[in-house]
Amino acid sequence: MIPIAKPLIGEEEKAAVLDVLGSGQLAQGRCVREFEERFAAWVGARNAVAVSSGTTALHVALLAHGVGSGDEVITTPFSFIASANCILYVGATPRFADIESEYYTIDPTAVEAQITPRTRAILPVHLFGQPCDMEAIAAIAERHGLAIIEDACQAHGARLAGRPVGSWGTACYSFYPTKNMTTGEGGMITTDDSVLAERMRMIREHGMRQRYVHETLGYNFRMTDVQAAIGLVQLTRVDGWNEQRRRNAALLTAQLAGVSGVKTPEVRPGAVHVFHQYTVAVEQRERVIAALTAQAIGYGIYYPIPIHRQQVYRERGYSDVLPVAEAASARVLSLPVHPALTEDDMKTVADAVIAAVREPVLS
Ligand SMILES: *Cc1c(COP(=O)(O)O)cnc(C)c1O
Repeated sequence: MIPIAKPLIGEEEKAAVLDVLGSGQLAQGRCVREFEERFAAWVGARNAVAVSSGTTALHVALLAHGVGSGDEVITTPFSFIASANCILYVGATPRFADIESEYYTIDPTAVEAQITPRTRAILPVHLFGQPCDMEAIAAIAERHGLAIIEDACQAHGARLAGRPVGSWGTACYSFYPTKNMTTGEGGMITTDDSVLAERMRMIREHGMRQRYVHETLGYNFRMTDVQAAIGLVQLTRVDGWNEQRRRNAALLTAQLAGVSGVKTPEVRPGAVHVFHQYTVAVEQRERVIAALTAQAIGYGIYYPIPIHRQQVYRERGYSDVLPVAEAASARVLSLPVHPALTEDDMKTVADAVIAAVREPVLS
């Protein structure tokens, strides 16, 4: 059995959780603050605000930027649905810009075409661990006076042009168990803007700075100290894991490159890709899936239906035609690449894919 994802929880994480449980301070204790400080230092941001999930991170980020009813936010149709739903949560309207076929990330030219007088922000997603074309996106945002909220939920540690992702705007991370590092559930928002960070801290905690003085409408989007304790340990290990993901990806690419019917992932020039997923495009997807299943090899289809085609959006009147995203949904297949896998595992995976696509088609 080769699973598509595997959270790596070691003795250190277990000990850290027991420490918190023993301390009696399960929430709003020392660990959350310390995790925020270490995470901010790790990504090179001035502030980090811990929250309950990647979804609430995106929600809080939009609220803190003042995005609301009557506003539009441009995002990608090819992502986990939270990237767009957070825009609906604040009463704003998502507008979808198609993706770049070689990287599956939002296409800056398509972003520019979606700008209207109501546009307030661009929400690019560093999908699969690959940085978006942030230099082009930042130039567009600058020209039109738009905020940038980076969905880095799949991109802990990714870089572009020598800069960490997240450094072009306000960035949101997820620590769900399948992500590059985990706290069970959890999220983080980073920003260099301390006024924004203060606002985010209030929104996550019922609009409160001083105990029981509620200055704005807020929520309970807090992270617990149990989660933060796990995160503190994971943060010391994630660079090594990302390195292993890159090695595993390179092994797969070495074996799959040039195989007819399989398009291996491309890395954007100047990018450090952290391979949250290793995603190929295959012509005979059902057949490859059957071969992987027969050998107990896990796989994923991220994402089988683009966001604008989901019922939630259709019933809100979305009828966009976004051919690159739609074609990607029909062909993508993510193969196991996580750091617990060995060189032999990578060979098993690649061999199964190669055998499946080379099998003669019976008609
Ligand atoms: C996982 C993920 C989210 C949401 O994070 P949760 O912690 O599951 O709420 C948002 N965007 C993307 C791209 C993700 O992969």
